[in-house]
Amino acid sequence: MTDDVLTADQIQQIRERVDALMPEVRADLEALVRIPSVSAASFDQAEVARSAEAVAELLRAEGLEVEVVSEGGRPAVIGHIDGPEGAPTVTLYAHHDVQPPGDEGDWDSAPFEPIERDGRLYGRGAADDKAGVLAHIAALRAHRGSLPVGVTVFVEGEEESGSPSLPAILERHGDRLAADAIVIADSGNWAIGTPALTTTLRGGIRVVVRVETLDHSVHSGMFGGPAPDAVTALIKLLATLHDDEGNVAVQGLEVGEAADLDYDEARFRAESGLLDGVELIGTGSILTRLWNKPSITTIGMDVTSVAKASNTLAARAAAKVSMRLAPTQDPLAAFELLQQHLLDHAPWGAKVTVELEEHGSGFAADANGPLYDQARASFRDAWGVEPVDMGVGGSIPFISDFAARFPQAAIIVTGVEDPDTRAHGANESLHLEEFARVCAAEAIFLARLGATRS
Ligand SMILES: [Zn+2]
Repeated sequence: MTDDVLTADQIQQIRERVDALMPEVRADLEALVRIPSVSAASFDQAEVARSAEAVAELLRAEGLEVEVVSEGGRPAVIGHIDGPEGAPTVTLYAHHDVQPPGDEGDWDSAPFEPIERDGRLYGRGAADDKAGVLAHIAALRAHRGSLPVGVTVFVEGEEESGSPSLPAILERHGDRLAADAIVIADSGNWAIGTPALTTTLRGGIRVVVRVETLDHSVHSGMFGGPAPDAVTALIKLLATLHDDEGNVAVQGLEVGEAADLDYDEARFRAESGLLDGVELIGTGSILTRLWNKPSITTIGMDVTSVAKASNTLAARAAAKVSMRLAPTQDPLAAFELLQQHLLDHAPWGAKVTVELEEHGSGFAADANGPLYDQARASFRDAWGVEPVDMGVGGSIPFISDFAARFPQAAIIVTGVEDPDTRAHGANESLHLEEFARVCAAEAIFLARLGATRS
């Protein structure tokens, strides 16, 4: 394609500037990773406040007017700097909070002490999403003194806890976040060396299912046989959620179709760590199953542990069930269907209750138009190959909040993750060369946007 708004020289200069900046960008990233800013309530929230302040300081150093805001939740950082008269405006989103580290024994190095191994930087938040924060900083630094567009940076502090106060933040400060384009750097790329725009995300709900069969636990020798125990009843109930092929058996849920990208079973097996001999479940292409069909996972159970087991019929048992949803599925409608399924399939007349704990909408972008063209061109400039449109099986519920609040803005979902990142898991890491390309693409995107102004 002929390059209309920037010359090859201009692009090359931005790439070189970003390359020269990467050592200081990385040092700033490492400093952020050292702050254990876990937004889950059982962790020290002073650390989240500390990371908000550290992000604010990075933005102030780039000349932004910065405010740390809290609307009943964790602190978010909003910074703004004007562009040239008449230039387009961009809002850059990332989050500074992180997931809990989980069992530290599963990590090969301490989660909050960043360390490089084989070209990857390891640490909780090294990718998700402190590298997103630093990608925005890198893009600002690449244009230090001559920013081509007006920029607002919004760095949230509770994304990993479901963004509970985001609606209040948007209500109170939303006017400041309005822009022609909103870049959300919290997703990833298709593979090392292949950039991607994320155009669909699944929604999700989480429910707690409780099963009761007795008014108190009883001796399994005296009563076992005629009386059902709640754990077995619960397991029998959970087993109805999939059909024999492993498809979700809840009727009435939306099902879509993924773009035709090459993704074979061998790659899926390698990336997921599926054991030899274990079959894939469900039907349709693997990407359709990952991005456009619902999935159901039992993520926790309250049952007597093996160590504490006695010969008893349990009176009650509970499970937490997570359901991922097709991008356009209404999550509350999906909850009604799941709840009805569970009530209809209660085994042996067991008492079943279903409580909705959390729900979030998916996202499906109409990724067309001049701003998306410039975003794709920026990827091409930074990687030297065409970007792909990809879906993500996970959820970023706040994106639908943004889409609803700013219907005129082009929402461009990018990110630093790659298939080996292990965001949320042990040994989370960032591929440093890909990270440099993410930073270059964003810097080029700002220049391209600035050059398109009429
Ligand atoms: Zn994230």
